[in-house]
Amino acid sequence: MSDPIKLTNLTRQFQRGNMDVQALRGVDLSIEPGEFVALVGPSGSGKSTLLNLLGGLDRASAGELWLNGTALHTATEADRTLHRRLRVGFIFQSFNLLPRLTTLENVAVPLMLAGVSVAEREARAKALLEKVGLGHRLDHYPTELSGGEQQRTAVARALIHNPSLILADEPTGNLDSKTGEEVMALLKELNREQGITLIVVTHDEEVAAYADRIVKLRDGDIVEEVKKEWDADYPDFPDRNQKNQADQANQRPIPKGLQFNDIVRQALSNLRRRPVRNVLTAGGVLIGIVTLVAMVSFGVGVQREVQRNFESIGLENLFVRPVYDEPDAFDPFAEPSPQTPLTPELVAQIEQIPDVINVTPELILPYSIDIALTYNDTSLPIRVTDGNEPEFTFGTDPEPLAGSFLDSRATAGTVLVKGVADSLLAEGESYDDLVGQDVALTVQLPRGETQTFTSEIVGVRDGFGGSIIELGLAEREAILAWWYNEPDILQTDGYDSLTVQTTDLGAITAVSSQIEELGLQTQSLEAILNVANQVLGLMQALLGSVGGLALLVAALGVANTMMMAIYERTREIGVLKALGASAREIRALFTVEAAMLGLLGGFFGLIFGTLLGRLVDWIGHRFLIAEGVTGIGQLSVVPPWLAIGALAFAAFIGVVAGLYPAARAAKLDPVAALRHE
Ligand code: ADP
Ligand code: MG
Repeated sequence: MSDPIKLTNLTRQFQRGNMDVQALRGVDLSIEPGEFVALVGPSGSGKSTLLNLLGGLDRASAGELWLNGTALHTATEADRTLHRRLRVGFIFQSFNLLPRLTTLENVAVPLMLAGVSVAEREARAKALLEKVGLGHRLDHYPTELSGGEQQRTAVARALIHNPSLILADEPTGNLDSKTGEEVMALLKELNREQGITLIVVTHDEEVAAYADRIVKLRDGDIVEEVKKEWDADYPDFPDRNQKNQADQANQRPIPKGLQFNDIVRQALSNLRRRPVRNVLTAGGVLIGIVTLVAMVSFGVGVQREVQRNFESIGLENLFVRPVYDEPDAFDPFAEPSPQTPLTPELVAQIEQIPDVINVTPELILPYSIDIALTYNDTSLPIRVTDGNEPEFTFGTDPEPLAGSFLDSRATAGTVLVKGVADSLLAEGESYDDLVGQDVALTVQLPRGETQTFTSEIVGVRDGFGGSIIELGLAEREAILAWWYNEPDILQTDGYDSLTVQTTDLGAITAVSSQIEELGLQTQSLEAILNVANQVLGLMQALLGSVGGLALLVAALGVANTMMMAIYERTREIGVLKALGASAREIRALFTVEAAMLGLLGGFFGLIFGTLLGRLVDWIGHRFLIAEGVTGIGQLSVVPPWLAIGALAFAAFIGVVAGLYPAARAAKLDPVAALRHE
């Protein structure tokens, strides 16, 4: 037979203001295993305080409290939690069922806290509910039950983990007398059948009459004990030799504790309680994550695109331009003139430099130039590119649709972009029919004079726009000579720039210094790329700080919501603790809930951020295409690491925001929490 419950000089005093309240003044009491004790006494006499000490919800100020060999007066918080989880079943006056859980789930809570699987705990709860006559109420919520049904559910919950001790504080206080009797009969039956020690606090004489012993308290002291002299033939005689559950409870393995999947399940169900508030809170996280995802996705996309395009042009290329004179202070409209013009002779000289493979000169037509293209009877205004401008070299070059491209050394010829070629084709003609034909290019000076140049079509290429052609160097030179009225324009002004291709990246430095010695300036793509990356990084940092700020505000929102949730659920936290939840588990519950709140915002933020990126991307492309720029890939890219990172970061924000509220919840004193209205 197991040890009795033994109280020696048990004292509990409370501080109220600067007054000491003696709730218990040195109580001595011994309770046999399987005994049914009624604690009676006027209000404020210390009954609940005593019960809370027995249940390990509270700690004595002085004295000793032994329970099945455990010294509860010195037990740590963890030991007392284990004591509640393993050995004690609580029954409260106001039932204290968890409102979000069904009858079945409520009864299963102590098993959930002990880490028992869903299937097993629901089977056990169902069996027990059937035993207390609630087999038909399994899926009902507490609000759908009568008081008697709620209390019977609470009795089942107190029993589900086979405790050795049941502590009931005014269990019939909120019930009518008939229902109260039913509940007492049920408790007594359990006490007799299973040998569970039963300690019931009551005001009610009739309830007390069920007990083996009545202990009367007044002002924190035992003033009277009445022991029933049961007749051995009397059917209610307690069978002391019956196998007591206390023994079994002590031999049972230590339960595993609340499992992570149950924490997640509870957090989700709690989030659903306040959908509007939680969605609004998550909305704050959403805004922050949208900003961050859009920002990083553009960073990634633009960087990739820049890299890809620069690589397709070739990092081993050098751009060469002349050094220009300071503009003439007296004539602000004067064209800047180059110190060393990029003449064909200079180009030939550069071609001789070791490691130079190829030099492509460029001549740029004035931006304001008006050119009309005439072929047969068709005449249309056109824009000219040389096929070397970035807008045409970006992206991978498609095959020509007919003829050939202007190669870098080509000096003459016209390549039509598809849209132009389409306008020129007569019925039944193909692009190939255009190749080899001459077109007339009529250039008009701003003051009205016109001049016509002839050029041969060498090819047709794919591309957007209906007014673009590529024009060879010879035609450009002729047009410019006429435009500026400088017949020797290549000698006086020279080319606008050169692209110098070197054998490899390693040759760039040597080649560029030799070119600079000729009085020219050079620029390598690598240097441009570095600058581009720096600008991009700066932009990202800026956007990032906006997103970061949004997330900071969002974190405050999450923290606030969690604080409110804790305030609303203070009593539930008390109940969970009474049923054996540890402080750590309560903290985990709230932390996970906060993380979910963040995750919720993060999830939708990721979706909206991705969509926003795509939208901006799409609008940007429309714009670029309208400007004649094609071949640019997707600029907003969400790689997997960004998606996962965004979700993890959102959850992390939630966790950080939830740290303080969760610690507050974990620290709640269960006795005070249970009193909370
Ligand atoms: P009963 O359950 O018999 O009505 P309690 O055990 O609840 O009495 O309370 C006993 C005495 O201790 C009362 O005077 C009560 O006001 C006081 N008391 C109980 N808990 C606290 C507390 N947390 N702080 C201050 N006083 C308390
Ligand atoms: Mg009380």
